[in-house]
Amino acid sequence: MKIILLGPPGAGKGTQAAFICESQRIVQISTGEMLRAAVAAATPLGRKVKAVMDAGELVDDQTIVDLVKQRIGMPDCRNGFLFDGFPRTVPQAEAVVEADIGIDEVIEIDVPDDVVVERLSGRRIHETSGRTYHVKFNPPTTPGRDDVTGEALTQRDDDREQTIRERLRVYHGETRPLTRFYRDRTSELGVRYTRIDGARSVEEIKQAISSALGGRPD
Ligand code: ADP
Ligand code: ADP
Repeated sequence: MKIILLGPPGAGKGTQAAFICESQRIVQISTGEMLRAAVAAATPLGRKVKAVMDAGELVDDQTIVDLVKQRIGMPDCRNGFLFDGFPRTVPQAEAVVEADIGIDEVIEIDVPDDVVVERLSGRRIHETSGRTYHVKFNPPTTPGRDDVTGEALTQRDDDREQTIRERLRVYHGETRPLTRFYRDRTSELGVRYTRIDGARSVEEIKQAISSALGGRPD
């Protein structure tokens, strides 16, 4: 099973990706997390993309496509994978078609901009694991601490109000056109397209995705 999760920043893609990957036994490929890991390790890639990410802009398509192609060639991807935060531009989506990756499902999590701002401004993450919390909607057991390790949670540099606005602008300009790209070409591309209302609880969205994927047990 190969899945693309589409939606604006803060839609809950990462939150739902964890559930889907567990139930489908596939790996989560989050380009944002891969890039943040490269920044944290100060690799040549990380040094190249840091300023772009901090500004809420997109990393160039070629860099992203190379990163993803290398990742999906790894043995753990044989059973399938879920793209979270990729593709994000029409050229990236075209590269997926050209590489003949054979996506089965495209799931769009749709949420309005005001919900995005509320979700992202309260997001807190555990950097090493990528676990995600929300100060109000999904708080950790101990405030400011990861439930599993007890380590401190942090706020992402790009989850500040000004950068959130810029990311939303980029989303509407560059990424939102992908909803049409896939919806209009489902038979040509052999994908199933499902739009999910994301302005609901984590549990309700989880159930909606699970039934869209054929009601497989989770
Ligand atoms: P969110 O989960 O909030 O949508 P991500 O973690 O997916 O954000 O992405 C964080 C940042 O990493 C983006 O703002 C962008 O700078 C960069 N990035 C991640 N994925 C891509 C991509 N597919 N194309 C271009 N830039 C990307
Ligand atoms: P994305 O990967 O699309 O950027 P995340 O999964 O990181 O989104 O979720 C963004 C923030 O919103 C996180 O703080 C997360 O805990 C919270 N969140 C996710 N889904 C919901 C939901 N259905 N209702 C309320 N808050 C949510």
